[in-house]
Amino acid sequence: MPTIQIDATKGAKKLPTHAKVVVVGGGVVGCSILFHLAKFGWKDSVLLERDELTSGSSWHAAGGIHTISSDPNISRLQSYTINLYKEIEELSGQSVGLHQTGGFYAASTKEWYDYLKGERSKARYMRLDQEFISPKELAERHPLIDPDHYHAVLWDAQDGHLDPSGTTYAFAKAARAHGAQYFTHCGATAMTQRPDGSWDIVTPKGSINAEHVVNCGGLWAREVGHMAGINLPVQPMEHHYLITEPMDEVVNFGQQLPHGIDFEANVYCRQEGQGMLLGTYEAKATPWKVGGTPWDFGHELLPPDLDRVADRLETAFERLPAMANAGIKDVINGPFTFGPDGNPLIGPVPGMHNYWVAVGVMAGFCQGGGVGLTLAEWMINGEPSIDVWAMDVARFGEFATPDWGSLKSSENYERRFVMTFPNETLPKGRHEVPTFERNRSHDYVGREIKAVREAVGGIEIANFAKHEFKGAGARDFLNHILAGYVPKPGRLTLTPMLTPKGKLYGDLTVACLAEDHFMLFGSGVMQEAHRRWFEKDLPTGIAYVNASDDWHGIALSGPKSRELVARITRDDVSAEAFKFRDVRQTFVGGVPVIINRISFSGELGYEIYCKPQYLMRLADAIEEAGADLGFRWYGARALLSMRLEKGWGVWTMEYRPDFNAVESGMDVFINWKKDFIGKEATLTARNEGVSQKLLTMVIDTDGIDVAHDEAILKDGTPVGYVSSGGYAHHVGQSMAMGYVATEFAAPGTTLQVEILGRLYDAEVLSGPIYDANGVYMRS
Ligand SMILES: Cc1cc2nc3c(=O)[nH]c(=O)nc-3n(C[C@H](O)[C@H](O)[C@H](O)COP(=O)(O)OP(=O)(O)OC[C@H]3O[C@@H](n4cnc5c(N)ncnc54)[C@H](O)[C@@H]3O)c2cc1C
Repeated sequence: MPTIQIDATKGAKKLPTHAKVVVVGGGVVGCSILFHLAKFGWKDSVLLERDELTSGSSWHAAGGIHTISSDPNISRLQSYTINLYKEIEELSGQSVGLHQTGGFYAASTKEWYDYLKGERSKARYMRLDQEFISPKELAERHPLIDPDHYHAVLWDAQDGHLDPSGTTYAFAKAARAHGAQYFTHCGATAMTQRPDGSWDIVTPKGSINAEHVVNCGGLWAREVGHMAGINLPVQPMEHHYLITEPMDEVVNFGQQLPHGIDFEANVYCRQEGQGMLLGTYEAKATPWKVGGTPWDFGHELLPPDLDRVADRLETAFERLPAMANAGIKDVINGPFTFGPDGNPLIGPVPGMHNYWVAVGVMAGFCQGGGVGLTLAEWMINGEPSIDVWAMDVARFGEFATPDWGSLKSSENYERRFVMTFPNETLPKGRHEVPTFERNRSHDYVGREIKAVREAVGGIEIANFAKHEFKGAGARDFLNHILAGYVPKPGRLTLTPMLTPKGKLYGDLTVACLAEDHFMLFGSGVMQEAHRRWFEKDLPTGIAYVNASDDWHGIALSGPKSRELVARITRDDVSAEAFKFRDVRQTFVGGVPVIINRISFSGELGYEIYCKPQYLMRLADAIEEAGADLGFRWYGARALLSMRLEKGWGVWTMEYRPDFNAVESGMDVFINWKKDFIGKEATLTARNEGVSQKLLTMVIDTDGIDVAHDEAILKDGTPVGYVSSGGYAHHVGQSMAMGYVATEFAAPGTTLQVEILGRLYDAEVLSGPIYDANGVYMRS
């Protein structure tokens, strides 16, 4: 069990009346943020803790540390976190109790072996130190393991465990060494925002005014959120681990046993003293205090309920047989907070000013350092140094209600060690068997694509974001925040949106409905992040609204799409009258619409947007008019396959803030004649050249396709990674897009792509494999 330490600073200092930042919550996350802020120069940062430090979930964590995560950039930050521990230990003089024993991930089924091959491939291009060892080698490194249960084992030398309480204190003391302050027994009880955007935070030791406030309330994140009027969709969950009495097998081994995870058995384990610590995520989660965390909950544990985990323990004892005979010294049941998709929620809250969160961090000792780094960069530099979309609070919108948060957080707790396949869509109720290979949907997708390429298909596009700008200054503002051309009335343009450092922050279609009226169409998942971006510097006099839910719609694509549209509108939609990249407000199918002549399939196409109440009427009109034209509905998988044939990237995959416009090829849309955010950095990238480029490849596979994040190699050396890919049905090729070192990005270069542990040859293409000159789209 970790040791609890008493805070020597208790009551010693007077709370200042002002600070640059107030961090609320002294768990591992808050302390790491305080440390990073002070280290990077914001020394006037103050942390408030309502009790002693580590008075939430941090003190009773199992202290396991590992690098594997579903998101590669989170893996990177986990690796950063582990590497940071020596630094804070030295700086603070406080031991973190680090045991870097190495760690294993044991696969007892073929599927888990395949999964680990994917993880290893990611680790290759991220230069993380992972290797496969045999089950026999594992048994040599961990004599409690019965190797007969396993197919393969992935080993990571960085993994291990630490003392959670010592680590939290080390962050806090290291922050103090850099000039920051923390106050215990000094909880925030209320906060209000002044007209200048700063916050007054009330505590029992007086009020403190701060330019920024960061909610790191952990188990109380929801309650701290309420003080500022927000409802965060996070939920504490009960969690068990047990600690055994000393075991002869452990004592006699003579060296530290490694940390380990057996996904299928759903257990993690590590050495604790001379015994073992073993934890599990039950199949049925137990959310804790759904209605709110009581303020008087302190350094407490919850009553253990071993029946809940009995079946898991039985499997664990088969795989670590010696544990079945070990005496149990302690059973810990403690709460910790989950987010709806299992990842943290961090960053500036959309719709608020100077209010930041770092909540729902369910693996604080793997991720706390990276979360602190990211938040400090974001606050001080205006943007994080790598894409942290997987953790950005803006990925959730209005739909993420407290009820939904509790439901999805429970689902994610239950799925913590459960396989998610590349094409799997949660939640329940789908009828395809998830697999790493091509699945049942393959042929259906092929038929949908045939309809689009040969006749006409329709797809619902409610999920596209729509941002509406009105006002005399709208054109100037858009010219400033968008790197591309802002169109004339009646026209559309495609443009990248960049950060001041020149990183991609959006790829948007801009429609000019009138000189002072614009509609921007973009990534649906980014809508709250984009809203936050637009609102940050919105000049007065411009009316902006995230209108995504106000406009649904249907995109029609295919050589017969014009004929179909012509049958259900009185407008002249001939090629001469309604050209490629025209936009109109008119009537289609008897309903008022905005219609864009544009398509993402690469065919002649139209995006038809209407108010939600008209969608069914529009759909009926399309189905009726398209029946004899071969009309068919198609889905997102078909669309993603068709855009591969055009070499077009997708937001979150190819386009994300890890890359700039030159690397991604989005610079072709830039209007260099104007000033715009990110111009200087992009010019530098263009003039000096970039070290990596986005490219499209055909892969010589045998019935298997990439998902994403596979390593790309040249003669066995990693030179890049796959951003996305799949089967391109129309051209009958397995394809992928990815970022590769520039010297290997030339068309015709032969590279290799690693799929489930095998290397396949891949050829770099010179341009779109389908309709290279865009003749169909412009027809
Ligand atoms: C049984 C168990 C095992 C775990 N094992 C691991 C593991 O092996 N590895 C791993 O990485 N993670 C593990 N975790 C998860 C880890 O404990 C959490 O991710 C981590 O503690 C989250 O830290 P936090 O700072 O966000 O929240 P917390 O630790 O909950 O800290 C929040 C702090 O905010 C303070 N606070 C709240 N409201 C206020 C207010 N109004 N004013 C001032 N202060 C306030 C609280 O008192 C508390 O100290 C485990 C958790 C549990 C329960």
